[in-house]
Amino acid sequence: MTFSEARACVVREVRAGRRLPPVECVALADAAGRVLAEDVAADRDTPETARAMRDGYAVRAADLPGALDVIGEVRAGEVFTGSVGPGQAVEIMTGAPVPDGADAIVMVEHTVRDGNRMRADTPTAPFQHINQRGCEAAAGQIVLHAGTRLDYTGVALLAAFGHRQARVYRKPRVAILPTGDEVVEVEEQPKPHQVRNSNAWSLATQAARAGAKPVILPIARDTVEHTHEMVKRGLACDLLLLSGGVSAGKYDVVEVVLAQFGARFFFDRVLIQPGQPLVFGMASGRWIFGLPGNPASTIVTFEVFARAAIDLASGCEESVLPFSWARLTADFRCKPGLTRFLPARRNEGGEVTPTGWRGSSDLPSLARANCYLVTDPDRGQYARGDFIQVLAK
Ligand code: AMP
Ligand code: MG
Repeated sequence: MTFSEARACVVREVRAGRRLPPVECVALADAAGRVLAEDVAADRDTPETARAMRDGYAVRAADLPGALDVIGEVRAGEVFTGSVGPGQAVEIMTGAPVPDGADAIVMVEHTVRDGNRMRADTPTAPFQHINQRGCEAAAGQIVLHAGTRLDYTGVALLAAFGHRQARVYRKPRVAILPTGDEVVEVEEQPKPHQVRNSNAWSLATQAARAGAKPVILPIARDTVEHTHEMVKRGLACDLLLLSGGVSAGKYDVVEVVLAQFGARFFFDRVLIQPGQPLVFGMASGRWIFGLPGNPASTIVTFEVFARAAIDLASGCEESVLPFSWARLTADFRCKPGLTRFLPARRNEGGEVTPTGWRGSSDLPSLARANCYLVTDPDRGQYARGDFIQVLAK
């Protein structure tokens, strides 16, 4: 499958097959990153009364340009008791309710004050710098939909509408199962032919960032028996992520073991780099990703595939990859045929530079990057200054 086909497959299968997680209540302070399990409606019109959006004068638009009598003042948190008649103005501060009779705010910067008189020489449009009652949201209107992952704006909105708690979906538990006879735990001193288990830590960090609860399992040995035992433990969670053991080598036993659990496979190879050998399937009602073991492959395939599955399984309505475009700072070549995700750095000016890498095991290069260059599988050559797709890290 191509990258787009494989991604569409993950989204389609998980969306069609998911059971929404149980619902729990969390305090507002713990709500960020959680997925809302109910629609939230505005409990009042916002604003509940017409509100000044600038410091200046509340006036009748038809009176200007011209000179007006200033009959009083109103600031945020107060209400002006009188009303603004023809030829009159009330000094007003941002956030204050607009006095009766006034239909526009003229900014203080556009006025000249002389005692109890002010003048403004520019014409003023009705409703200028006023947010009318209910213009942001009307009472009863849904302002946050179930299936929204709460970010800082969502949390602010809950607070604005009087919610001290949020009803959210329980975080899915994601089992992380590293495999490989050459892999040792971080505490151990690796022999020259061994590698430390970094994948469990990248995956745990990525899963937590994706809103799941990671459960790290012991490293499975490259035997059918031990891998079987560990997969069985992993299937107690909501999702299972394996790293390694999915290539075509003699000791890559993951697919064999998953088949023992009656797994259905949706794909086992995707035309991407890093991460070509990549298994997506389901066994015992659990989604499973067999991610290739090289650190960059594990990391990238999690971001572009497993993360979407976690989002949707968490109750999210959608999962959108943060793609954008940037201009290359140097010529760039690659062999067509694959969608490549290569470590790079972009700046605020929209320029991107590859960090240079030595293949799928080059974790230091990935750590230097702040994004991935995404190459078009139909294109093998880019010139300096060309636009290229970029995926935020
Ligand atoms: P595999 O996909 O099993 O063929 O693994 C490919 C390579 O990835 C291995 O040769 C290891 O160097 C590396 N690798 C596998 N598992 C891990 C892990 N848990 N942490 C770090 N590197 C790993
Ligand atoms: Mg292996």
